Amino acid sequence: MIFVTGGAGFIGSNFILDWLAKNDEAVVNFDKLTYAGSMNNLVSVSQDPRHIFVQGDIGDKVRVAALFAQYKPRAIIHFAAESHVDRSIHGPAAFIETNVNGTFGLLEAVRAHWASLPDADKVTFRFLHVSTDEVYGTLGTHDAPFTETSQYAPNSPYSASKAASDHLVRSYHHTYGLPTLTTNCSNNYGPYHFPEKLIPLIIANALSGKPLPVYGDGQQVRDWLYVSDHCAAIRRVLEAGVPGEVYNIGGWNEKTNLDVVHVLCDILDRLSPKSAGSYRDQITFVADRLGHDRRYAIDARKIERDLGWKPMETFETGIRKTVQWYLENQAWVADIQSGEYLKWVDQNYSQRQGAIK
Ligand code: NAD
Repeated sequence: MIFVTGGAGFIGSNFILDWLAKNDEAVVNFDKLTYAGSMNNLVSVSQDPRHIFVQGDIGDKVRVAALFAQYKPRAIIHFAAESHVDRSIHGPAAFIETNVNGTFGLLEAVRAHWASLPDADKVTFRFLHVSTDEVYGTLGTHDAPFTETSQYAPNSPYSASKAASDHLVRSYHHTYGLPTLTTNCSNNYGPYHFPEKLIPLIIANALSGKPLPVYGDGQQVRDWLYVSDHCAAIRRVLEAGVPGEVYNIGGWNEKTNLDVVHVLCDILDRLSPKSAGSYRDQITFVADRLGHDRRYAIDARKIERDLGWKPMETFETGIRKTVQWYLENQAWVADIQSGEYLKWVDQNYSQRQGAIK
């Protein structure tokens, strides 16, 4: 039995769907179901007895401890987090609460669970903490990509809260000997990606004839990884990673945001052409995000060399699959774009409209 936190979110739900397709082992999916979590991501396993969903907060140590005692998981994979940088700028408190205090509460429950295991199970137990490349800060155009030993320099409340959680995990290994694994991954994309993030936002806005907002000059560089490649990397780290180690995960796919938007428009022009003109006509440059990091890039040689993982998708194959998925799942997007989500966008972004260049 494995125990996944945040399994109703974007990456967590992809991980669970992948896991159940490839393993017999059951999964407890513990998720608070914030705005970002949706059971619609897990419809295909809703009747699968190996998927046990429990709604709850990772910071609730007593509840988590009771679930550990009940299910006796051999591994915890910790995805649960507040994950949207823009939201962290508008309201950092939830990020500190979940990503820092929540991870702390979870670690305490995990430590007690691990201490209660028989010696043989203690050795094989793993706590895998899923983190981001954003903890390393920003790179100049000619800087070498981030390695596992790059200095932490988080620049947004989101990345600072993830950095704090990484440090807590590190300290639980160093101090208590907890068998932890930490992964720092670059930007993911693929099915079930919440439509506030760049790629699904652009696809959804394009199809509904809305402006395609691009921050600043659009020259911010991100490394992109198709979500199933991230899931495969996590499975590999869980299976063969060395406790206490950190693994950077990336797709060697550096793209500017504007290039990504252009690629999306071009694919949509082919797969779902407008009656006149191109989706590129909807591109609208808006005032840049506060403190926007210029470039992230991941050096993934450690996981490739030590664990034999490598991405299966190129950016070209992954992005085509992604657009196709959104075209075939517009009802999923429509459902997500509910009153609550739109209310938040209205409250937090409407003042930016005047800044559109
Ligand atoms: P997401 O926002 O789509 O999903 C987060 C999930 O966590 C949601 O289902 C939400 O309901 C749940 N959650 C939030 N607070 C909770 C709490 N207090 N208790 C229990 N559940 C809670 O995020 P995602 O994009 O799937 O990211 C998952 C993890 O991967 C995060 O830790 C994120 O930092 C990390 N990560 C994401 C990316 C990316 O590109 N999306 C890249 C690298 C790392």
